[in-house]
Amino acid sequence: MEILIGVIVFVLGLCFGSFVNMLVYRTAVDYKLENKKFKVKGEKRSFCDYCGRQLKWYENIPVFSWLILKGKTKCCHKKLPLSYPVVELVMGFLFLISVFIGRPQESPLQFGLGFLIIVFLVFSAVFDLKYMILPDFSTVILIMCGLVLLVGTRHGAYLQNIIVALGASGFLLILNLITKGNGMGMGDVKLAIFMGLFLGGPKTILAFYVAFIVGAIVGLILMIFKKATKKSQVPFGPFMILGILVAWWWGEKVVELIKL
Ligand SMILES: [Zn+2]
Repeated sequence: MEILIGVIVFVLGLCFGSFVNMLVYRTAVDYKLENKKFKVKGEKRSFCDYCGRQLKWYENIPVFSWLILKGKTKCCHKKLPLSYPVVELVMGFLFLISVFIGRPQESPLQFGLGFLIIVFLVFSAVFDLKYMILPDFSTVILIMCGLVLLVGTRHGAYLQNIIVALGASGFLLILNLITKGNGMGMGDVKLAIFMGLFLGGPKTILAFYVAFIVGAIVGLILMIFKKATKKSQVPFGPFMILGILVAWWWGEKVVELIKL
Protein backbone atom coordinates (compact mmCIF):
# COMPACT_ATOMS: atom_id res chain seq x y z
CA MET A 1 0.00 0.00 0.00
CA GLU A 2 2.80 2.41 0.94
CA ILE A 3 4.55 1.64 -2.34
CA LEU A 4 1.38 2.18 -4.35
CA ILE A 5 0.80 5.57 -2.71
CA GLY A 6 4.46 6.38 -3.33
CA VAL A 7 4.19 5.59 -7.03
CA ILE A 8 0.99 7.64 -7.41
CA VAL A 9 2.46 10.63 -5.57
CA PHE A 10 5.69 10.43 -7.59
CA VAL A 11 3.84 10.29 -10.92
CA LEU A 12 1.63 13.17 -9.78
CA GLY A 13 4.82 15.09 -9.03
CA LEU A 14 6.20 14.33 -12.51
CA CYS A 15 2.99 15.66 -14.09
CA PHE A 16 3.08 18.84 -12.03
CA GLY A 17 6.74 19.17 -13.05
CA SER A 18 5.55 19.11 -16.65
CA PHE A 19 3.03 21.82 -15.76
CA VAL A 20 5.81 23.93 -14.19
CA ASN A 21 7.91 23.64 -17.38
CA MET A 22 4.97 24.78 -19.49
CA LEU A 23 4.18 27.66 -17.10
CA VAL A 24 7.82 28.80 -17.14
CA TYR A 25 7.84 28.85 -20.94
CA ARG A 26 4.51 30.63 -21.33
CA THR A 27 5.33 33.17 -18.63
CA ALA A 28 8.65 33.88 -20.38
CA VAL A 29 6.76 34.45 -23.64
CA ASP A 30 4.32 36.75 -21.80
CA TYR A 31 7.21 38.70 -20.25
CA LYS A 32 8.81 38.94 -23.74
CA LEU A 33 11.84 36.98 -22.51
CA GLU A 34 11.32 34.33 -25.19
CA ASN A 35 10.25 34.97 -28.76
CA LYS A 36 7.52 32.84 -30.16
CA LYS A 37 7.57 32.92 -33.94
CA PHE A 38 4.34 31.05 -34.48
CA LYS A 39 0.71 31.36 -33.52
CA VAL A 40 -1.03 28.45 -31.88
CA LYS A 41 -4.79 28.18 -32.06
CA GLY A 42 -6.47 27.93 -28.70
CA GLU A 43 -3.16 27.55 -26.83
CA LYS A 44 -4.78 24.89 -24.69
CA ARG A 45 -2.76 21.86 -25.67
CA SER A 46 0.98 21.34 -25.70
CA PHE A 47 2.94 22.38 -28.76
CA CYS A 48 6.53 22.29 -29.98
CA ASP A 49 8.49 25.25 -28.52
CA TYR A 50 10.12 25.90 -31.89
CA CYS A 51 7.65 25.34 -34.72
CA GLY A 52 4.31 25.26 -32.89
CA ARG A 53 3.29 21.80 -34.09
CA GLN A 54 0.81 20.16 -31.75
CA LEU A 55 2.42 17.37 -29.74
CA LYS A 56 1.27 13.74 -29.93
CA TRP A 57 0.33 12.08 -26.63
CA TYR A 58 3.58 10.11 -26.48
CA GLU A 59 5.61 13.32 -26.79
CA ASN A 60 3.92 14.65 -23.72
CA ILE A 61 4.79 12.09 -21.04
CA PRO A 62 7.02 13.53 -18.32
CA VAL A 63 10.69 12.37 -18.43
CA PHE A 64 9.98 9.37 -20.71
CA SER A 65 9.22 11.47 -23.79
CA TRP A 66 12.47 13.34 -23.34
CA LEU A 67 14.37 10.04 -23.11
CA ILE A 68 12.55 8.41 -26.06
CA LEU A 69 13.13 11.49 -28.24
CA LYS A 70 16.75 11.67 -27.00
CA GLY A 71 16.29 15.28 -25.95
CA LYS A 72 15.29 16.54 -29.40
CA THR A 73 11.99 17.61 -30.91
CA LYS A 74 10.55 15.08 -33.35
CA CYS A 75 9.42 17.70 -35.86
CA CYS A 76 12.32 20.11 -36.23
CA HIS A 77 15.13 18.24 -34.39
CA LYS A 78 15.90 21.15 -32.09
CA LYS A 79 17.41 20.44 -28.68
CA LEU A 80 14.92 20.17 -25.82
CA PRO A 81 16.46 21.59 -22.63
CA LEU A 82 17.75 19.08 -20.07
CA SER A 83 15.92 21.22 -17.52
CA TYR A 84 12.60 19.70 -18.68
CA PRO A 85 13.15 16.15 -17.33
CA VAL A 86 15.24 17.48 -14.41
CA VAL A 87 12.42 19.75 -13.20
CA GLU A 88 9.93 16.87 -13.59
CA LEU A 89 12.11 14.50 -11.55
CA VAL A 90 12.77 17.13 -8.88
CA MET A 91 9.02 17.70 -8.53
CA GLY A 92 8.42 13.94 -8.28
CA PHE A 93 10.90 13.65 -5.43
CA LEU A 94 9.67 16.79 -3.66
CA PHE A 95 6.11 15.42 -3.70
CA LEU A 96 7.42 12.11 -2.28
CA ILE A 97 9.41 13.84 0.46
CA SER A 98 6.48 16.05 1.37
CA VAL A 99 4.14 13.08 1.76
CA PHE A 100 6.41 10.58 3.53
CA ILE A 101 9.14 12.43 5.38
CA GLY A 102 8.13 16.01 5.72
CA ARG A 103 4.73 16.27 7.24
CA PRO A 104 2.77 13.11 7.88
CA GLN A 105 0.26 14.53 10.37
CA GLU A 106 -1.45 17.35 8.61
CA SER A 107 -5.00 18.49 8.00
CA PRO A 108 -6.45 18.20 4.46
CA LEU A 109 -6.15 22.00 4.10
CA GLN A 110 -2.44 21.92 4.93
CA PHE A 111 -1.95 18.88 2.74
CA GLY A 112 -3.63 20.37 -0.34
CA LEU A 113 -2.11 23.82 -0.02
CA GLY A 114 1.25 22.14 0.62
CA PHE A 115 1.26 20.73 -2.91
CA LEU A 116 0.27 24.11 -4.35
CA ILE A 117 3.09 25.76 -2.41
CA ILE A 118 5.64 23.23 -3.76
CA VAL A 119 4.44 23.83 -7.34
CA PHE A 120 4.84 27.61 -7.16
CA LEU A 121 8.08 27.49 -5.16
CA VAL A 122 9.63 25.28 -7.86
CA PHE A 123 8.17 27.49 -10.59
CA SER A 124 9.71 30.59 -9.00
CA ALA A 125 13.07 28.85 -8.50
CA VAL A 126 13.27 27.64 -12.11
CA PHE A 127 12.17 31.01 -13.50
CA ASP A 128 14.72 32.86 -11.34
CA LEU A 129 17.51 30.47 -12.42
CA LYS A 130 16.65 30.96 -16.09
CA TYR A 131 15.73 34.65 -16.24
CA MET A 132 16.79 36.24 -12.90
CA ILE A 133 13.20 37.24 -12.14
CA LEU A 134 10.79 36.03 -9.47
CA PRO A 135 7.40 36.56 -11.15
CA ASP A 136 5.01 38.56 -8.97
CA PHE A 137 1.94 36.40 -9.64
CA SER A 138 3.71 33.33 -8.24
CA THR A 139 4.77 35.22 -5.10
CA VAL A 140 1.21 36.53 -4.68
CA ILE A 141 -0.21 32.98 -4.90
CA LEU A 142 2.33 31.83 -2.30
CA ILE A 143 1.49 34.72 0.05
CA MET A 144 -2.24 33.92 -0.30
CA CYS A 145 -1.54 30.26 0.58
CA GLY A 146 0.50 31.45 3.57
CA LEU A 147 -2.36 33.69 4.76
CA VAL A 148 -5.00 30.95 4.37
CA LEU A 149 -2.83 28.50 6.32
CA LEU A 150 -2.16 31.09 9.01
CA VAL A 151 -5.86 31.81 9.50
CA GLY A 152 -6.85 28.13 9.12
CA THR A 153 -4.33 26.58 11.50
CA ARG A 154 -3.02 29.13 13.98
CA HIS A 155 -6.32 29.97 15.68
CA GLY A 156 -5.63 33.59 16.37
CA ALA A 157 -1.86 33.68 16.87
CA TYR A 158 -1.24 35.53 13.61
CA LEU A 159 0.66 38.48 14.93
CA GLN A 160 3.99 36.72 15.43
CA ASN A 161 4.15 35.46 11.85
CA ILE A 162 3.10 38.84 10.44
CA ILE A 163 5.87 40.56 12.39
CA VAL A 164 8.38 37.91 11.20
CA ALA A 165 7.21 38.43 7.59
CA LEU A 166 7.72 42.20 7.84
CA GLY A 167 11.08 41.69 9.55
CA ALA A 168 12.36 39.16 6.98
CA SER A 169 11.24 41.32 4.11
CA GLY A 170 12.67 44.48 5.71
CA PHE A 171 15.99 42.72 6.27
CA LEU A 172 16.29 41.86 2.57
CA LEU A 173 15.12 45.37 1.61
CA ILE A 174 18.03 46.84 3.60
CA LEU A 175 20.44 44.42 1.88
CA ASN A 176 18.88 45.43 -1.44
CA LEU A 177 19.49 49.12 -0.69
CA ILE A 178 23.07 48.55 0.57
CA THR A 179 24.03 46.47 -2.50
CA LYS A 180 22.05 48.78 -4.79
CA GLY A 181 20.08 45.81 -6.10
CA ASN A 182 23.15 43.79 -7.11
CA GLY A 183 22.72 41.14 -4.44
CA MET A 184 19.04 40.98 -3.57
CA GLY A 185 16.33 41.85 -6.03
CA MET A 186 12.92 43.22 -5.11
CA GLY A 187 11.54 39.77 -6.00
CA ASP A 188 13.48 38.32 -3.05
CA VAL A 189 12.11 41.08 -0.78
CA LYS A 190 8.54 40.12 -1.75
CA LEU A 191 9.19 36.37 -1.43
CA ALA A 192 10.45 36.96 2.12
CA ILE A 193 6.90 38.05 3.08
CA PHE A 194 5.69 34.54 2.22
CA MET A 195 8.67 33.04 4.01
CA GLY A 196 7.86 34.78 7.31
CA LEU A 197 4.09 34.22 7.11
CA PHE A 198 4.47 30.55 6.27
CA LEU A 199 7.38 29.55 8.52
CA GLY A 200 7.17 31.85 11.54
CA GLY A 201 10.10 32.89 13.73
CA PRO A 202 12.78 30.24 14.32
CA LYS A 203 12.19 28.46 11.00
CA THR A 204 12.57 31.71 9.03
CA ILE A 205 16.00 32.23 10.62
CA LEU A 206 16.90 28.64 9.69
CA ALA A 207 15.71 29.19 6.10
CA PHE A 208 17.87 32.33 5.78
CA TYR A 209 20.80 30.44 7.27
CA VAL A 210 20.46 27.60 4.73
CA ALA A 211 20.00 30.12 1.88
CA PHE A 212 23.10 32.18 2.72
CA ILE A 213 25.36 29.17 3.44
CA VAL A 214 24.36 27.19 0.33
CA GLY A 215 24.36 30.36 -1.77
CA ALA A 216 27.90 31.20 -0.62
CA ILE A 217 29.16 27.65 -1.27
CA VAL A 218 27.62 27.52 -4.76
CA GLY A 219 28.95 31.03 -5.51
CA LEU A 220 32.46 29.93 -4.47
CA ILE A 221 32.30 26.75 -6.55
CA LEU A 222 31.15 28.75 -9.58
CA MET A 223 34.01 31.21 -9.05
CA ILE A 224 36.59 28.41 -8.73
CA PHE A 225 35.39 26.90 -11.99
CA LYS A 226 35.35 30.41 -13.51
CA LYS A 227 31.67 30.16 -14.36
CA ALA A 228 31.12 33.32 -12.38
CA THR A 229 33.15 36.37 -11.42
CA LYS A 230 32.56 38.52 -8.33
CA LYS A 231 30.43 40.81 -10.44
CA SER A 232 28.32 38.24 -12.26
CA GLN A 233 24.90 37.65 -10.80
CA VAL A 234 23.74 34.48 -9.15
CA PRO A 235 20.03 34.68 -8.31
CA PHE A 236 19.27 34.45 -4.59
CA GLY A 237 15.68 33.23 -5.04
CA PRO A 238 16.46 29.53 -5.60
CA PHE A 239 18.56 29.43 -2.41
CA MET A 240 15.78 31.10 -0.42
CA ILE A 241 13.35 28.54 -1.81
CA LEU A 242 15.69 25.69 -0.84
CA GLY A 243 15.90 27.23 2.65
CA ILE A 244 12.09 27.42 2.86
CA LEU A 245 11.71 23.71 1.93
CA VAL A 246 14.40 22.59 4.40
CA ALA A 247 12.95 24.69 7.24
CA TRP A 248 9.41 23.59 6.39
CA TRP A 249 10.15 19.86 6.48
CA TRP A 250 13.02 19.54 8.94
CA GLY A 251 12.87 22.84 10.82
CA GLU A 252 11.28 21.52 14.00
CA LYS A 253 13.93 18.82 14.38
CA VAL A 254 16.76 21.30 13.82
CA VAL A 255 15.28 23.82 16.27
CA GLU A 256 14.99 21.04 18.91
CA LEU A 257 18.59 19.97 18.30
CA ILE A 258 19.85 23.49 18.86
CA LYS A 259 17.88 23.86 22.11
CA LEU A 260 19.46 20.71 23.62
ZN1 LIG B 1 9.01 21.52 -33.90
